[in-house]
Amino acid sequence: MTARSTATLDWSESRVLSPLVGEEEAPARLEGAGGVETEAGSRPVLSSVPLVPIGGGGAASLGLDAIDRTGARVRVDDKAMINARADLNQLLPLKYRWAWEKYLAGCNNHWMPTEVSMQADIALWKSRDGLTDDERLMVKRNLGFFAASESLVANNIVLAIYRHLTNPECRQYLLRQAFEEAVHTHTFQYVVESLGLDEGELFNMYREVPSITDKAAWALRHTQHLDDPDFRTGTVETDQAFLRDLVAFYVVFEGMWFYTGFAQILSLGRRNKMVGIAEQYQYILRDESLHLNFGIDVINQIKAENPHLWTPAFQEELRGMLKEAAELEAAYGRDTMPRGFLGLNAALCERYLQFIANRRAAQIGLAPVFAETENPFPWMSEAMDLKKEKNFFETRVVEYQNGGALGWE
Ligand code: FE
Ligand code: MN
Repeated sequence: MTARSTATLDWSESRVLSPLVGEEEAPARLEGAGGVETEAGSRPVLSSVPLVPIGGGGAASLGLDAIDRTGARVRVDDKAMINARADLNQLLPLKYRWAWEKYLAGCNNHWMPTEVSMQADIALWKSRDGLTDDERLMVKRNLGFFAASESLVANNIVLAIYRHLTNPECRQYLLRQAFEEAVHTHTFQYVVESLGLDEGELFNMYREVPSITDKAAWALRHTQHLDDPDFRTGTVETDQAFLRDLVAFYVVFEGMWFYTGFAQILSLGRRNKMVGIAEQYQYILRDESLHLNFGIDVINQIKAENPHLWTPAFQEELRGMLKEAAELEAAYGRDTMPRGFLGLNAALCERYLQFIANRRAAQIGLAPVFAETENPFPWMSEAMDLKKEKNFFETRVVEYQNGGALGWE
């Protein structure tokens, strides 16, 4: 048996956040961009290098500037989450160890969907009375929601977040996360192929099923804003837009909506139905819990370094976003489970999401969004704690241990 990983993934959602470091502002000098000092608000002038507009107060780089042959080496204090002037091509010295540790944990969680057997699922799906019509509808809409959502999340990381997160260790994690989103999208391709589902129906649900479209459109609004080629962080307005995008995708999309989706499939799995998909969802859930915790650390670190962004009005706005997101999810719940079935229905899912929303609010330092409510799915915390599901995973665990470095304890 290979050595167990040193970077064990912490599964508890209530884990203590990484200690915040470097609350001081990055020094206001320009580095790595040709060394021309500029006044705040003006644009750096570089010989013959085409310029991109830079947001008001910042002269931050995206990491593609001309190489500064004369500049000083990066010091840890030069690093910052957003609007950093430090060279983005130097991973070391590390400033945010929590980001590096999440990168290691992500690598240690490696899995591929094709390693999960779909035989039982295929037999059940093709049998006439293995699943009720209600269960089939829920499974299909759930798969349809996730199939496109994994791509939306991936695109947001690669095309929006990555550009503006000006820290190499965070970018290192984002590169790992981007690959994991590819693995998740692969999962839905593999499920469609295994069960012989209508691929057009599944991958178009985010366009054709209104309650799924509403969620995708809501999230897209926040990433589209950042996709504007002229968008740069560096003003209160644009820095808050960046935080809004982080909240929309990490806290809402991956941290709230995915969790009701997991609850739906894992509740079927608990009744021994669609166990292959349920196993894949447990792997995805493990990845997503890391994505979520990374996003929360990023948001809290940006807050710590830029307390002026976290105004009471902005906090209210973010709480409004969580509330809206819960309402969109309630509509999706009614759409996917019009009648409900054993242990699961739209009303329970709505309560679960309110419970989750309050938890997420607390994790980023916001007041609760809903009245205090009990977790209607206490078994979800067990599903998240793979240590307690050893039997379920026994064969897989051994294979992964041989193949590399999956630390389960
Ligand atoms: Fe994902
Ligand atoms: Mn994710």
